Amino acid sequence: MAEIKPAAGSAGRVYLVGAGPGDPELLTLRAVRLLQQADVIVYDHLVSSAVLDFVTPSAERIYAGKRRNEHTMRQEQINGLLVKLASEGKQVVRLKGGDPFIFGRGGEELQALAAQGVAFEVVPGVTAASGVSSYAGIPLTHRDYAQSCLFVTGHLKDGTADLDWHSLVRPCQTVVIYMGLGGLPEICRQLIQHGAPPTLPVAVVQDGSISTQRVVTGTLADIPETVVKAGLKSPCLTIIGEVVKLHDSLAWFTPVTHETTT
Ligand code: SAH
Repeated sequence: MAEIKPAAGSAGRVYLVGAGPGDPELLTLRAVRLLQQADVIVYDHLVSSAVLDFVTPSAERIYAGKRRNEHTMRQEQINGLLVKLASEGKQVVRLKGGDPFIFGRGGEELQALAAQGVAFEVVPGVTAASGVSSYAGIPLTHRDYAQSCLFVTGHLKDGTADLDWHSLVRPCQTVVIYMGLGGLPEICRQLIQHGAPPTLPVAVVQDGSISTQRVVTGTLADIPETVVKAGLKSPCLTIIGEVVKLHDSLAWFTPVTHETTT
């Protein structure tokens, strides 16, 4: 990519902002301020419409897509766009679902900006693991059930997930799987094969923190089938571990539609 230097005197800047899991109340104050001051917003499909309502009407909005199998813009195009907009002197908000540094390719985008000498700042957001588990009433750690918690991506490459299965089956641990809906049967199969009890509780949460939230619970042995029967759709977050048992007594968020617990 040709080097684009910001024009002299221009103060273009890219703000890499986390939009949280969906409920706009989970935006940081800094995120809201930036959404109200930006010249242009470049956002991903995971950013909820309720969050976009906070964008100043005068800002240009560019949808960068990145739904699975529907890459509206390739990553290099997004990087190039951010560099171009900032070099035009614009205040650019690059808005990403959850936290930009957790499975959000935020680091890659910043590397592209840094390589071109573009100024940037990062505004963290509530990541799905934290926000979605909270709204599902599932504490990720609990002294009786889990002393550690792992965040992993369940995105499959060539039908298999390249995960360190041994580290995922440790006792007293919660595993949170991002992007794992399609790979759920394979993930459960591998965990059982590597020694996890088939009865280990699992929750799959669709649309966490917004009105269409659904929580489906089961075990490693039966959750893949239960999820299919329930017709869950992306985005879904999978939480595996004894802490999932707490959902029954700690669920507090009542979405406008229905919640299915099996
Ligand atoms: N940077 C984001 C994650 C991007 S990866 C973050 O920090 O949250 C996208 C995955 O995040 C989805 O496939 C899903 O597993 C999870 N996810 C994000 N928002 C979610 C939501 N509201 N409900 C359920 N899962 C969500």
